[in-house]
Amino acid sequence: MSFGVFGMANQAKAHAKSEAARARATLAKSVAQDAQSAVAALEKRVDKLALISMALWSLLSEKCAVSEEDLAERMKQLDAMDGSADGKLKGQGEPCPQCGRAMSARHGKCLFCGAERTEITPFDDVV
Ligand SMILES: [Zn+2]
Repeated sequence: MSFGVFGMANQAKAHAKSEAARARATLAKSVAQDAQSAVAALEKRVDKLALISMALWSLLSEKCAVSEEDLAERMKQLDAMDGSADGKLKGQGEPCPQCGRAMSARHGKCLFCGAERTEITPFDDVV
């Protein structure tokens, strides 16, 4: 079957579209696999942190006179420290002393202007 010059051009365009769609699908699959790997790594990390927390709590409640009510009250206090009692430690971040934008606790300096963080805690890279 012959389509002539225009038919061949349309066939070439259709082939190119098909190749582009295949490339996008391959890229999307790769991105999805990367996301699955990242989620699996995070789940593993959260599981380990939960285990560490439970072990620490077990030791603390056993060795010291600390009740579950004390723990719950402290959790409420820490939750509210960022200005939002939402069950998360992370807030908007402290404002940058130089430009006033929110600074991430994970970085040693402002991502906008480069000002150094002045207050650094042992938990900065985990919350
Ligand atoms: Zn700044």
